[in-house]
Amino acid sequence: MARRKKIYEGKAKVLYEGPEPGTLVQYFKDDATAFNAEKHDVVEGKGVLNNRLSEFFMTGLNAIGVPTHFIKRINMREQLIRSVEIIPLEVVVRNVAAGSMSKRLGIEEGTALPRPIIEFYYKDDALGDPLVTEEHVIAFGWASQQDLDDMVALALRVNDFMSGVMMAVGIKLVDFKIEIGRIWENDFMRLIVADEISPDSCRLWDMKTGQKLDKDVFRRDLGNLADAYTEVAKRLGVLPSNVTHATKPTLIN
Ligand code: C5P
Repeated sequence: MARRKKIYEGKAKVLYEGPEPGTLVQYFKDDATAFNAEKHDVVEGKGVLNNRLSEFFMTGLNAIGVPTHFIKRINMREQLIRSVEIIPLEVVVRNVAAGSMSKRLGIEEGTALPRPIIEFYYKDDALGDPLVTEEHVIAFGWASQQDLDDMVALALRVNDFMSGVMMAVGIKLVDFKIEIGRIWENDFMRLIVADEISPDSCRLWDMKTGQKLDKDVFRRDLGNLADAYTEVAKRLGVLPSNVTHATKPTLIN
């Protein structure tokens, strides 16, 4: 079999050339990294869980008319996606104070925010992905004012969808990060949700106990990361409810 062409390798995923022009294959690795890759581990099964969870969220978004790059899952670790030109910004939406915002502004983690707060971070590992303002985004040409308006609208729709889906299974969506890409259809450019949506890129707290079910389990050494993601997948019906991580994830097709 001919080797596939690798287009890009990131910390948690690899992108390969897709079967048709305008498509890519996104492969989910088991690598877990935090603090700009200063902390690294391999968590068996994480890639399989994130592939399935990202499929679940992106399929739901597509179904309600929020455009995403997701086309279909190919196998346990790979999905077919549309090729996009990634806007070099991480778009973070926060419903509850936590993480870097709590640290930066001295707001206690868990404080409910009066409205969702959207932040932009410039994607640059060497700079540690600094927080930037809309002024920076426009002045440096990373996106236009129209793009920013569209990105805010997309991010808020993703927030509403994700908050509802998670609340239905007893989980609070504290915050999340998305990446957005451009696609061209004839002469028109559209922005669509890209990358992944998974517990790697969200903060998810159990609504009753406050237990963390996201990558903070790894960042803060709170237990087994795959167990936390398995719990999220089980509640969402992505895994049968009798599965424990010890018996390895069994995926429903
Ligand atoms: O670290 P911070 O509090 O700014 O993170 C906000 C949200 O964005 C968290 O859900 C975190 O998992 C996510 N995030 C991410 N990738 C980054 C930075 C943050 O997925 N590089």
